[in-house]
Amino acid sequence: MRIFVTGGAGYIGSVCVEELLKCGHEVLVFDNMEEGHQRAVVSPATLTVGDINNFEQVNAAVSGFKPEAVIHFAGKALVGESMTNPYVYYQTNVMGGTNLLEAAVRVGCKKFVFSSSCATYGLPEKMPMDERIPQRPINPYGHSKLIFEQVLKWYEQVHGVTFTALRYFNAAGASKVNGEDRKIETHLIPNVLDVALGKKDHMSIFGNEYNTPDGTCIRDYVHVIDLADAHIKALDRASSGFYNLGSGDGYSVLQVIETARKITGHAIPAKMMPPRPGDPPRLVASANKVKMDMGWKPRFNKLSTIIETAWEWRKAHPNGYNS
Ligand code: UDP
Repeated sequence: MRIFVTGGAGYIGSVCVEELLKCGHEVLVFDNMEEGHQRAVVSPATLTVGDINNFEQVNAAVSGFKPEAVIHFAGKALVGESMTNPYVYYQTNVMGGTNLLEAAVRVGCKKFVFSSSCATYGLPEKMPMDERIPQRPINPYGHSKLIFEQVLKWYEQVHGVTFTALRYFNAAGASKVNGEDRKIETHLIPNVLDVALGKKDHMSIFGNEYNTPDGTCIRDYVHVIDLADAHIKALDRASSGFYNLGSGDGYSVLQVIETARKITGHAIPAKMMPPRPGDPPRLVASANKVKMDMGWKPRFNKLSTIIETAWEWRKAHPNGYNS
């Protein structure tokens, strides 16, 4: 298939492009290069630099390529930033996404795969989280993702779009080629590995008085290749749906640091810090629906495998894509 991939020069998008190419798909990456890297786009995928916020740009790229499906990774994705600058979250995640969707339907492309988020649920009362729990986001990031899910439903009704919205839990790990390289790194695993590389002298643990067994927050880490795999499976879907995309296993911040100590052989000193605003204590997916409907099964769900692959990539790219 001819697949138009927004954000395909970024972390999850670039790994998905690798997997799409392995399946024989033809790929055009559309990325504004704010967090994207040219070297992350593997050949023979082509890169068009442009912004989904600019309808003319995205429309020209889509109408030139005439895709059979769109996979939409591009977007703003930092909870903290959304609390100080909600405007860019609604602009890019809602209006930018709608520009793309509109450009797609105008060329008759009605298959759409969207990167949504478990942040659309807010503070869930039930664990593990299935798709029926109420969506009550607690930050503009989660809200902007939820609104775009609703936009998709209206485009399904009005234009007959078939969509798959994948609500990611914590993407982690790396492929042999692509990994995490952001301008400002806030995520747990890359920060832990930067301490092991000697780029930082210690790790900050944001809160150890949560109501969890060791007091630190629990997250569901999914290998980025497994995430990519779900997008490829979604291309075969004949009906629309919303899916949680997590492994179903939860690990605490301390468990992640301990596992990284074993893998890297570094002591990784850690200091307790106050909790980070807006962090839910526990986010773990029920992956039953995605497994049942799509036959998705994570292959790299061991935390040690996730951290090992991230460590291999980071050692090979100590300065990210500029290494
Ligand atoms: N975290 C931490 N120290 C860090 C970065 C993250 O203790 O330097 C914690 C964070 O508070 C959260 C978990 O690690 O409980 C995962 O955070 P991350 O930013 O990786 O993903 P999020 O779940 O926020 O999307």
